[in-house]
Amino acid sequence: MDTAEIRRRFLAHFEAAGHAVVPSASLLADDPNLLFVNAGMVPFKPYFLGQETPQWDRATSVQKCIRTPDIEDVGKTTRHGTFFEMCGNFSFGDYFKEGAIELAWTLITKPVDEGGFGLEVDRLYPSVLVGDDEAISLWMKVTGLPEERIVQLGNKENYWSMGVPGPGGPCSEILYDRGPDFGPDFDPTTLGPDMPVELEDRLLEIWNLVFMQDELSAVRSKSDFDISGSLPRKNIDTGMGLDRVALLLQGKQNMYEIDVMYGVIAKAEEMTGKTYGADAGDDVRFRVIADHVRSSMMLIGDGVTPGNDGRGYVLRRLLRRAVRSMRLLGCEDRVLPELMPVSRDVMGQTYDNLLTDWPRISQVAFAEEDAFRKTLQSGTQIFDTAAAEVKQTGGTTLSGERAFALHDTYGFPIDLTLEMAAEAGLTVDEQGFRGLMAEQRERAKADARAKKGAHGDTAVYRGILDEHGPTEWLAYETLETESRPLAVLSGGAATQRLAEGEIGELVLDRTPFYAESGGQVADAGEIVFDGGRLEVIDVQRPIKGLVVHQVRVLEGELDAGREVHARVDPEWRIGARQAHSGTHVVHAALREVLGPTALQSGSYNRPGYLRLDFGWTQGLSPQQVRDIEQVSQQALRADLAVSWDYMTLDQAKEWGAIALFGETYDNTKVRVVEIGGPWSRELCGGTHVDHSSQIGTVVVTGETSVGSGNRRIEALTGVEGFAYLARERDVVAQLTGVLKTQPDDLVGRVQGLTERLKVAEKELEKARLAQLLGASAELAARAEQVGPVKVVAHRADGAGGGDVRNLAMDVRGRLPQGEAGVVVIIGSADGRVSVVAATNDEARARGLSAGELVRAVGPLLGGKGGGKDDVAQGGGSDASRIDEALALVTSEVARVAG
Ligand code: ATP
Ligand code: MG
Repeated sequence: MDTAEIRRRFLAHFEAAGHAVVPSASLLADDPNLLFVNAGMVPFKPYFLGQETPQWDRATSVQKCIRTPDIEDVGKTTRHGTFFEMCGNFSFGDYFKEGAIELAWTLITKPVDEGGFGLEVDRLYPSVLVGDDEAISLWMKVTGLPEERIVQLGNKENYWSMGVPGPGGPCSEILYDRGPDFGPDFDPTTLGPDMPVELEDRLLEIWNLVFMQDELSAVRSKSDFDISGSLPRKNIDTGMGLDRVALLLQGKQNMYEIDVMYGVIAKAEEMTGKTYGADAGDDVRFRVIADHVRSSMMLIGDGVTPGNDGRGYVLRRLLRRAVRSMRLLGCEDRVLPELMPVSRDVMGQTYDNLLTDWPRISQVAFAEEDAFRKTLQSGTQIFDTAAAEVKQTGGTTLSGERAFALHDTYGFPIDLTLEMAAEAGLTVDEQGFRGLMAEQRERAKADARAKKGAHGDTAVYRGILDEHGPTEWLAYETLETESRPLAVLSGGAATQRLAEGEIGELVLDRTPFYAESGGQVADAGEIVFDGGRLEVIDVQRPIKGLVVHQVRVLEGELDAGREVHARVDPEWRIGARQAHSGTHVVHAALREVLGPTALQSGSYNRPGYLRLDFGWTQGLSPQQVRDIEQVSQQALRADLAVSWDYMTLDQAKEWGAIALFGETYDNTKVRVVEIGGPWSRELCGGTHVDHSSQIGTVVVTGETSVGSGNRRIEALTGVEGFAYLARERDVVAQLTGVLKTQPDDLVGRVQGLTERLKVAEKELEKARLAQLLGASAELAARAEQVGPVKVVAHRADGAGGGDVRNLAMDVRGRLPQGEAGVVVIIGSADGRVSVVAATNDEARARGLSAGELVRAVGPLLGGKGGGKDDVAQGGGSDASRIDEALALVTSEVARVAG
């Protein structure tokens, strides 16, 4: 039964029993404590916690899950995926233990032709929490099984909680005995309270039923908690592993071989020339590849992009492990463009975003592989040298410094170093490495503090505010003020003076400077005083009411007691006003073109530039982008009046003003900025132009994705916008000059040229191949006689992997029939060495193997390779010993068959 059918039957079974069918939520949990959704119940948490009331009493779902802690088990056990799907049924204060047991048991034991899974009753073992007599008798009643068949397990297996005070309860797992091939015999009556590890693959856990009945007041560990009472409403939460049931119903050895996963293994076999099932170590790699390719694709599909921490790091690690595992199987080519589409084609039948969003998904994945290949290229040699040095000196540990250098200089993540070290039989001083990492982090933090001023410590600012009251803030009224310093800080502490060249912070009684907020950057400008001048580097409001200028003393010495003159750079400010008003215009235009659901999720603007992030799942079409730009330009031309007013939040809402994500407003008075009356109304504290025409121009320069359901529009305003267009005009002028054509004909002309180039390249390629293969007759004729074997060992400088293979196959075909023949061609192109060996039947009958020959010469070429007996391929990076490698081929042939 294929996975799709199991999914369908599961949902149909529970739907028929009155459950609402709820679609899978995204893998990205809407929960600060979880990196990813790791169980079917996660999207229902607010209902179980009583924070929200569900619309239904019963629900069912098949939820996408990611479990990163299981990554080490992947491929080693038969049953752990980093990605898998969990089928679940949920009762919110409706049916309880008996209902849950009955529903589960009916589905798994009902015959296949009646819509069930038809699992053999004799192989099924329900488990309960030790002493849960109620569950034992219910299992006996529902299933008719004798008590001996019901296994009692301890808290570790069969007590569920969220790890925090709140709901908890005993579980019942349903175990399936896969027979003696998967573990030793056992006696169910003496099993427990822990499940022995050696039985976990044999007694496969397929379903877990959680009976949420207790109120927990403290949870210290999985098996140490306090039950303070019972829940007023008892709930059911269950999880059945779709992939695990599929492996049983499809008669497979493990979950990586089921219909939606095996294709990747098959493809990997084809690419590596290795056979799945031939070697236990290789098999783990094949399974890791199948798992990781799928998991990373699903993660990218839900908006994760590779990064160095959090979700992004999990994705990076999965992608890299997949690529590395392919290398360890002997394939050094780009692998994801071949492997991932295989997974997409099967998973896409359920999750069609994989098909519709494929251009983005594939781009993210392939770019990461390319980046990783570069990392490997530069770092592997350094690693190898370091490892060799350690071994030479008789050591077994790679030092923390080495691991750190690999990380710091070559971007080698520590897990990669750990993995490669383990393969080389070494350990790594991980603690030393972590120590160095921590030091580096401290240094970075100190740097950041020095740059930004000591905003970390708000107590100092609180003191200033208490003493002097709030800063009189005049950014809306004026660009210059006479002001009195209230406090001068150096390195976060109060001081009397700042000397020339020093950086410090300055708090004034009144200021015209705009402090960074609402997406608008801080004003730039100067603060002058008798005998000196300060540059304003940054302006922040570290606590409400207090404006702090970060300044550098350009001339003279700042004395805390002296009057100063604060002056915002007027050019800067007009640029900032244009950009901020431009942001509102683009936002309104966006909503006009895309509809009111397109809502800003963040923004940033500085003189000349703006960007606006908004919630939207698809990329915009070029036409939509043009429309947004045009609506914006029309708004500028219409010279709409810009005005602002203070009002209560309720009034603002009534007015239809848009309050933006993440900003907090006083509930007494808010500022609403409007452009063209109701056309654009937003809650905003920024500085704006008076009329929209003053924005000058709005030129949209880009539209991109910024992860999970967010897009970003970027635009240039004012003079910057004009400058951008002028640059483009210059490029067009240069191109028309070079191509001697008119602007309107440019595109056609360039298209024509690239077409012709393609044709010419193809011709060239044909000619090159003909020339290469032309040599093959001569090579075959000149074959050397080594004992009974005809040997062609040839070097083909300038030939890459594909050519080398073609040539080798062609020469083999031209060797005399009926005589043993061996061909080995070693080519080198672009710093890569490629070797292909081919044998004929007679040579193989004499014990000559292409795979062995490639393996033998691999180390000389600074690489590896291998493959089957008839044809094998490998590569390396060292071209200096090709002749030696060819000589080795001849002597190997002589040794084996001579
Ligand atoms: P195990 O002990 O085998 O790791 P678990 O106790 O972690 O399983 P639960 O948290 O109870 O599993 O999850 C419910 C069901 O989800 C399990 O019964 C199993 O069928 C499935 N499941 C759990 N983890 C995985 C995984 N990593 N890959 C595939 N299926 C899984
Ligand atoms: Mg587990």
